[in-house]
This record gives sequence, structure tokens and C-alpha cells, in this order.
Amino acid sequence: MKSLKFLIITVLILSFQFCTQKGKEETRVRFMTIGTGGLTGVYYPTGASMCSMIDKNALGSKNIQCNVQSTAGSVYNLNAIHSKEIEFGIVQSDMVFRAWEGLEPFPEKYSELRSVFSIYSEPMNLVARKDAKISSLQDIKGKKVNIGNPGSGQKRTSTELLTACGMTESDLALAGSLKPAEMPDGLRDQKLDAYFYTVAHPTANIKDIAHSVPITLVPLEGDCIDQFVESHPFYVKTKVPGGLYDGVEQEVPTFAVKATVMTHKDTPDALVRALLDSIVTNMDEFKQLHPAYRDMTLASIQEGLVPPFHPAAKRYFEQGK
Ligand code: GLU
Repeated sequence: MKSLKFLIITVLILSFQFCTQKGKEETRVRFMTIGTGGLTGVYYPTGASMCSMIDKNALGSKNIQCNVQSTAGSVYNLNAIHSKEIEFGIVQSDMVFRAWEGLEPFPEKYSELRSVFSIYSEPMNLVARKDAKISSLQDIKGKKVNIGNPGSGQKRTSTELLTACGMTESDLALAGSLKPAEMPDGLRDQKLDAYFYTVAHPTANIKDIAHSVPITLVPLEGDCIDQFVESHPFYVKTKVPGGLYDGVEQEVPTFAVKATVMTHKDTPDALVRALLDSIVTNMDEFKQLHPAYRDMTLASIQEGLVPPFHPAAKRYFEQGK
């Protein structure tokens, strides 16, 4: 009799502990940060939109606090994922490839990187003052050109492009490293003749400068660029539509990367699943938020990714939630 009493009490205590433990798990707030880019680009509003989708989405929202962080760009984001300072980052696919392979500017192979999904095609742009008379890539010789801020994707992509086309920074009168938000002022104040910016369209950054100074988007085409695109699987030719910016009426040929979402292999499944589900479940709503997302489909978001999927993303794509 005594031992039966003891057994019942033990069972009661254990089940009470189990329930409170479960309750604790459900109420524990999990934090996640999405690293993006400069405030005037498209990564930052994209990260903000993702967090707002998570907040709204029933499956994802429970106890997840999503923060968007403005950063220097792709290279910064990859380094911050590597060191586990942030859980997610929006990153150019050419920089993902470089990090995965351990190519400059990355010190080693970032083999813990995992793919979550890809978002949109992101063109390389050369924005120039009209009076700088730059009508092709070769015309930047002897000009003041912003190559890109440290930590950005454009700094590395433009450097690789110059090398492929037989140029170095020493061919320029100035190789600038202003941040995206400072680049329009640089052009306006004639500190710059042109700037490189890997960014989707339309972007507040180029709208801003096109309002106040006549600009051109320089066509990036010709033999060395063709070869550059053909020799790298993550570059594709594209055209920036005309009519998006004051004075830029014609479509402009260039090449593009993919803007992708990366994470660390150790990121908890629940966070990856919440982010992915909030986008997949509400894709039509998400696509309304920026023209760059227009072509997103369940198939397109699984393309153009270098590292393997995070296990939670793999499961999600294979089995649904
Ligand atoms: N592609 C840029 C980078 O990696 C950021 C573009 C944006 O902020 O929209 O630095």
C-alpha cells in the first residue's frame, strides 16, 4: 500500500515537471537576426519584410523575435554567419561560392554554411554622372569610381570584373570605398564619376541620385564581360528595364547574381522552418512588397544555391511543413 502511494506521488510529480518543462519550452522566446545591407538598398527592406512575415505567420510567429540588421553587405553577412553573430544573412550567390571555396576575401572554406532559399536576381550596376561621359566599362579608366565599401558584395564583384577585363584599381583616378548611402552624394558632389552597386531594381539609392543629377546606367556588355559571365556558373546576363529612374529610359544590358538567404549548419531547425514557412505560405503577399520578388515561385527559390540546404530547409522542401 505504502509503495503504491509512493508510486502515485512520483508519477504525479514527474508529470507536473514534464508539463511545466513543456510550458517553458513553448514560452521561451527565440531570437533571430537577419543580416542585410545598407539602408538605401533592397536587402534591408527585404530582411524587414521577412521579419514582418514571420510575425504574422501562425507557424513561425510563436515565440520568435525576428530582428533585421543593416550591415556592410554580403561579405560582412557571411563572416557574421561564420562566427555565429547572426543566424541568417542575405548574400550574393557569387560571394557564397567564394566563401564555400575559401577564395578571397574569405580566409578559409566556410563549410558550415547552409542554404535556406534564394530570393531574386540581382544585377551589377555601374551608375555614372552623365557628364562623366562613361558609356562602357573601359571608359572608367582615369575616372573616380567607387568600387565598394569593405564587407560589401559589389567591392569583390567589381574587382573581379575589372581583373577579367584587364584593369586594376591603378587604372582609376580614384578607387572609392564609400558605403551605399554615401554613394549618391559622392556623385552629386563630383567626388565620384561613377559607382558600382550590385543591387535589385528599383532601389531608393539610384532613385535618389537620378532625381537630382542626370545619370546613366552604363551597359556592361562586350567580349570580356561575356567571357566573365560564361566562365562563372553563378553569373547570368540580364537587362535592367528602362523607365525605372529619371533619365534612364532604355533597358540596360548587364549581368546578375542571385540574392540568397544563408545560415549556419547549427541554426535551430525551428528558426529555419519559421522563416521558410512564412515566405512559402504567404508568397503571394510577399511578392507584392517589392518588384524584385515578382518572379519568385516555389521552384525558383530552390535554385542557384551553392551549399547544401540546412536540414530543416531540405525537409521543408521535400515534405512540406
Ligand atoms: N548586393 C549588395 C551587397 O552584397 C547589397 C545590395 C542591397 O543592399 O540591396 O553588398
